[in-house]
Amino acid sequence: MELKSVRGMDDLFGEELLRWRRVEEIVRNVFSHFGFAEIRTPALEKIEVFSRTVGDATDIVEKQMYTLTDISKEQLVLRPEGTASFMRAVIEHQLHQLAGPQRFFYYLPMFRHERPQKGRLRQFHQFGAELIQDPSPEADAEMISLVDTLFRKVGLREFRVRLNSVGCGTCRPAYRELLVKYLKGHIDQLCEQCKLRLERAPLRVFDCKNESCKNITAAAPLIADNLCAACSGHHRRVQGSLHALRVPYENDPTIVRGLDYYTRSAFEFTSSALGSQDALGGGGRYDGLSAQFGKANFPGVGFAAGMERVMIALAAAGSSAMHESKPSAFLAPLGEKAFELLYKMSFELKRAGVFADLSYDREKGLKNLLKAADKRGAAWAVVVGDDELAKGKALIKEMKTGTQEEIPISEIPTYLQTRINRAP
Ligand SMILES: [Zn+2]
Ligand SMILES: [Zn+2]
Repeated sequence: MELKSVRGMDDLFGEELLRWRRVEEIVRNVFSHFGFAEIRTPALEKIEVFSRTVGDATDIVEKQMYTLTDISKEQLVLRPEGTASFMRAVIEHQLHQLAGPQRFFYYLPMFRHERPQKGRLRQFHQFGAELIQDPSPEADAEMISLVDTLFRKVGLREFRVRLNSVGCGTCRPAYRELLVKYLKGHIDQLCEQCKLRLERAPLRVFDCKNESCKNITAAAPLIADNLCAACSGHHRRVQGSLHALRVPYENDPTIVRGLDYYTRSAFEFTSSALGSQDALGGGGRYDGLSAQFGKANFPGVGFAAGMERVMIALAAAGSSAMHESKPSAFLAPLGEKAFELLYKMSFELKRAGVFADLSYDREKGLKNLLKAADKRGAAWAVVVGDDELAKGKALIKEMKTGTQEEIPISEIPTYLQTRINRAP
């Protein structure tokens, strides 16, 4: 029997993995510049972590969770999203008792039993951030600015930020009633799933991609027009902060997020490069979430973005992070003696942080070696033959310009290091 990977769970290797690593590095750097510290939670959690909090009426809990019963009959779930596990960890370790606000980020694989398609896998990767213990609108704007910076730093340009407010415990119940009344008046035109949503999570009708449902929601009452004074004040200040931080965004009253625990700010990042599944990620304020875990009660705001989606959008944008890694120096030996010298030098360079590639074929001849250096995409070729050995010098050729010079062999490492560090 031929063994294959589980459907919707990919192997990652070669150039593709290197591209991921470069993006991951940029993402980690931005998080740390914004003062966010990493947290890692286990892949398996007790089922209640999600069933109590993510909301029974969401697709995630209803149909997509990988659940298993372990040998001691405990019901466990492979983490389908990051925030619920994060909150479980915060409360378990009483991190919310420390002086706030506190900032965390995570980068972890998630698991959902969905129909696999481009940009939607059953094991996928999310990076996200959570800022807890602060209820202010400036924290919401900080989170949106963080995501905006992350996407720009990794090389994305064609993305949009959509912002909405989903209200709070004061204004949402009345709006919900208004919406249900409206939707019931058009119940014949709703799809089967939306008829169910109508009872359990009516706001999620806005998420439906069905054309008929979209026509109905296009004329539906909007939460934005039904916010209480505190919520509309909060919303205005989020927008004011985004203006001050020069983060471009647009108001979109249909952004409701699928999860019940969101309050006030809800936002989504989309990219046209992704086609119909255009979400790069999203987030919002979740002041109501901690209380669902028991005694704790503290505000929070966060986001999560899909790594696979980001990589697709980057490839479509022809981002520089997508370029394959090329050696800085290609060491070309002409003969056995030159090889011995360059073999040692190649490791000296590698230890000094210079990506040096060495031809193990020392009988190739100058022309073929330079051809090989060109093929590998090396920035410099270092040629050493008997003539050079006799003089104690090497020939260094800059591949892009074709200019070459002879320099003492002992100076090669410094020569390359200073030039590589100067390169953009
Ligand atoms: Zn409100
Ligand atoms: Zn529908």
